[in-house]
Amino acid sequence: MANTRYPHQVKIAVIGAGPVGVTTAVCFASLGHKVICVDYDHEKISSLAKGKTPFYEPNLAKLVKLNCQAERLKFSNNINEAVKDSLVIFIAVGTPTQSNGEPDLTYIKNAIKAIGSAMTDYKLIVEKSTVPVMTCDWIKSTLNRYLPKNIKFDIAYNPEFLREGCAVRDFLNPDRIVLGVETEKAKRLLLKIYQPIKAPKLITDIRSAELIKHSANAFLATKISFINAIANICELTGADIEKVALGLGFDKRIGPYFLKAGIGFGGFCLPKDLKAFIHQAKKIGYNFRMLQEVERINITQREQFVKKIAGQLKLKGKQIGILGLSFKPNTDDVRSAPSIDIIKRLKSAGAKIKAYDPKAMVQAKKIMPDIQYCENPYEVAQESDCLVILTEWKIFQKLDLRKIKRLLKKPIIFDGRNIFAPEKMRRLGFIYQSIGRL
Ligand code: NAD
Repeated sequence: MANTRYPHQVKIAVIGAGPVGVTTAVCFASLGHKVICVDYDHEKISSLAKGKTPFYEPNLAKLVKLNCQAERLKFSNNINEAVKDSLVIFIAVGTPTQSNGEPDLTYIKNAIKAIGSAMTDYKLIVEKSTVPVMTCDWIKSTLNRYLPKNIKFDIAYNPEFLREGCAVRDFLNPDRIVLGVETEKAKRLLLKIYQPIKAPKLITDIRSAELIKHSANAFLATKISFINAIANICELTGADIEKVALGLGFDKRIGPYFLKAGIGFGGFCLPKDLKAFIHQAKKIGYNFRMLQEVERINITQREQFVKKIAGQLKLKGKQIGILGLSFKPNTDDVRSAPSIDIIKRLKSAGAKIKAYDPKAMVQAKKIMPDIQYCENPYEVAQESDCLVILTEWKIFQKLDLRKIKRLLKKPIIFDGRNIFAPEKMRRLGFIYQSIGRL
């Protein structure tokens, strides 16, 4: 029977309780749908069931609690039950990279197997994880192998463009919703699910939708590496990257976003999706050299930053204070964060590391247990030979810089995110080096 309060209500299962799965489940529940979010990780599910998110994401925990109380959202380890109780199943499991750049689709394969063994009637299976073009063809044939012939299903691809740190806002106010479908029924169901969201809805074939997601991430990565390459030219010529980026951004054909020079991109998505795209392009007969260069510039940017530090002080035996570990502000995610690579390089040159991050220290400790973690930025500065800024958290912009100067052994700051104005820093008596600015 139709729900009178939410006439568009659909029963949905979301497989995977990572940042994408939980955000998807919570937001669909907030729109009035009935949602079960499943993960085989018992710890994650039991903490979510208590209203606690296993990662930091603004506003998410509050919405988890609200929707669970309203009985529109449930967390479970039982994929069987979730599939049986739902009409539409979203797959939001991880697609990490293997050493050759190929994405590891094992999690998707396991999810498909589990869905196939639980299905007794029609389902729409929506792939949301980021995958290379033509993966849904493989999903379809894999599912066909596990299903009796009389059970019907549709496959769709609905890429996710949310950014960690503002995931809820992005999900509910997207620039566009892309729906890759091959049947009218799949299209109708997905439009019903997304009906309350006012955004352009682009209906495409499945392969085009898959390609939209990889192309979007590749383009964003290209923009970052491009501005970082220009920042290098600025350093060689005395020009100022902030002014150059401003001048570029006013041009509507270019736009002002993703033109922030720094130590490059990291995180779970851009590096792995770039690798996967390069790999898939090669597999289908296209050598995507441009993206290889985007990747190379990104890694070089970190190397050059370490060289900048080493050019100012001999690293052996020095105490380096690090501010910021997450790959960007407002998240505790340190997956493929530039901080990990930079700290590794500093340590192998003989430096000792003290670090602080407002949210990411628990995650960072799992990867880097052997550095010193501090309670606040001032403890980091205390007796350090220099301060290195790796993430542009807002609170770092509000530091008491006079106090920092007093606490540091030498008043040296290397700013990998350009959060301070060079002139102001020099006026305060710092030796200050940033990216693409003299
Ligand atoms: P994640 O790896 O953090 O979380 C995935 C979750 O799926 C894990 O909790 C894991 O235990 C669970 N899982 C794996 N296999 C399962 C199975 N068979 N049954 C039940 N649970 C299973 O991943 P994420 O960051 O949430 O990203 C998911 C996908 O979305 C990836 O493909 C990613 O590229 C894409 N994406 C991520 C973001 C982002 O900002 N994180 C944004 C857009 C798209």
